[in-house]
Amino acid sequence: MSVCSLPKVILMGRPNVGKSTLFNRLIRSRRAITHDRPGVTRDRMEGMVRSRGGAPFILVDTGGVTMDGHESVVEGPHGLRGFEEDILRQAKEAIAEGAVICLVVDGREGLTPFDEHLAAHLRRTGKPVFVVVNKVDGLEREDLMLAEFHELEFPLLAVSAEHGHNIRALEEEIRDLLPDEDGGDAAEFSEDGEAAG
Ligand code: GDP
Repeated sequence: MSVCSLPKVILMGRPNVGKSTLFNRLIRSRRAITHDRPGVTRDRMEGMVRSRGGAPFILVDTGGVTMDGHESVVEGPHGLRGFEEDILRQAKEAIAEGAVICLVVDGREGLTPFDEHLAAHLRRTGKPVFVVVNKVDGLEREDLMLAEFHELEFPLLAVSAEHGHNIRALEEEIRDLLPDEDGGDAAEFSEDGEAAG
C-alpha cells in the first residue's frame, strides 16, 4: 500500500498539552522534539502508526495552535473571530487533509476557553473529532479529570502520553473512526499481548 494513500490523523491543540510526547508515543520513537516552552511552534511532523493487526495510518503533529496576540481576543466577545483567523492561518490545510482530528487537551489544567473555541471550530468542519485528555497520570482521579471535558460533546479518552497509559486504547479508538479503505484489514484485528514501546 502506498504511504500517500493512508488516512491521516491530525493532532491539534494548544502548545504544551503534550502533542509531541503523544506523537512520539504513538509512532514509538523519540524522533520529535519535546520542549517546555509554551508558545513555541514546531514544524509539522508526520509519522506512521503501525498497529498490531489493524490498518496503519499517518499521524500529523501540527506543532500547536498558538494564542500569540489572541489571548485577550479569545476571551472577549469577538473571540471566535480572532480565533478563527489564527486557526485558519495555522492549521487549515492539516485539518482539511485529516480523516480524523484528535483534539489534545491538558487534563491537569482542565478545560480552557481556547479548547472550547477550538472544539467549536472543529465541530463546524464536520470531521470526526476525538478528544484526548492528556496528563492523566494516575488512575485514581481519572473520572474527575475527565468530567468537564464531556461538555465538548466529542468522544474522549484519558491518557498519559508520558507514562504510556491508555495509548493502545487510544489507537483503537482512532482506528474505529477511520474510513474503511478497501475493507479487509479490520477483520485481521488481533489482541496479542505485545508490550507497548
Ligand atoms: P506540545 O507543545 O503540545 O507538543 O507538548 P509537549 O509534548 O512538548 O509536552 C509539553 C510538556 O508536557 C512537556 O514538559 C512534557 O514532558 C509534558 N507532558 C507531556 N505528556 C505528559 C503526560 O502525560 N503527563 C505529564 N505529567 N506531563 C506530560
